[in-house]
Amino acid sequence: MDAGFVGLGQMGVGMARRLVDAGHRLTVWNRNSAKADPLVERGALRGASPAEAAKAGIVFTMLANDAALEAVTEGERGILSAGKGVLHVSCSTVSVALTKRLTEAHRARGQRFVSAQVLGRPDVAAAGKLSIIAAGADEDLARLKPLFEVIGAKVLHMGAEPVMAAASKLAANFSIAAIIETMSEAYRIAGAHGVTPETMANFFRETDFGSRMMGVYGPLIAAEKFEPAGFPLRLGRKDVGLALDAAGEETDVAFGRLLAQRMDHIIASDGGTRDWAALGQPPKA
Ligand code: NAP
Repeated sequence: MDAGFVGLGQMGVGMARRLVDAGHRLTVWNRNSAKADPLVERGALRGASPAEAAKAGIVFTMLANDAALEAVTEGERGILSAGKGVLHVSCSTVSVALTKRLTEAHRARGQRFVSAQVLGRPDVAAAGKLSIIAAGADEDLARLKPLFEVIGAKVLHMGAEPVMAAASKLAANFSIAAIIETMSEAYRIAGAHGVTPETMANFFRETDFGSRMMGVYGPLIAAEKFEPAGFPLRLGRKDVGLALDAAGEETDVAFGRLLAQRMDHIIASDGGTRDWAALGQPPKA
């Protein structure tokens, strides 16, 4: 199939590589164009702008945050200027407000918009094993099935409105942050009586707690292996903030507010460049 891919960061590059290697004709664009070079060497076409990548008819975006998604969609030579019929597949973790606004903006231009959020770190993206949390019109999701099969191990349909996937992803990332904090504190409680973090990590993995999420983060926390960051804490703070925004002022999300404070404290001390597995660690003096 013909498709475009905009945003070749840690996640995007692995997803785009899977699509190229599967034989799809992919036009790629990244703000720093050097990041497209390895993909062009593998057979991708280099687009001169996000709009040119979107001319393929289907365009994926995988960008850092709201500002980046706004820039490539609404900016000069952005996706909205690519003409009618384009299907935009938005994979970045962004706010519910922007997701709703872009849904309307695409409709107004005669374009289509789907939110296809992904769960999984860069190594999972490179292996094509992401969980795809998708929401949008059934016919659009059906059209994307062959592409989703290359980048993901499973697709979870959350509903007909793109915002439903965006909100679900923010809720999921809040849950991961809560698991990291919970495990870190549990290690300290048991650790105060001589139990090693590695023993606790094994305990969480082998008992009824055992979940893949605990299996991934437990050993990272135990070994204090926070670099290189698969998902930097500053991006995690963005997502916890967006989850609180999605909840709104009236909703009781006390633990979420506590996590946000804790992450702010760490970012103030080290910039939040370490993996967010470090969020349960008090900043070093
Ligand atoms: P990343 O490595 O920091 O890549 C960010 C991408 O956004 C780069 O392509 C960057 O372009 C682009 N970008 C940033 N600001 C821009 C702007 N103003 N205009 C145009 N492009 C801009 O981040 P990532 O880890 O790939 O994450 C991407 C998204 O996936 C984020 O929303 C993140 O929350 C989500 N996510 C991440 C993970 C993970 O484990 N890492 C997992 C699931 C979802 P340049 O190369 O030019 O800087």
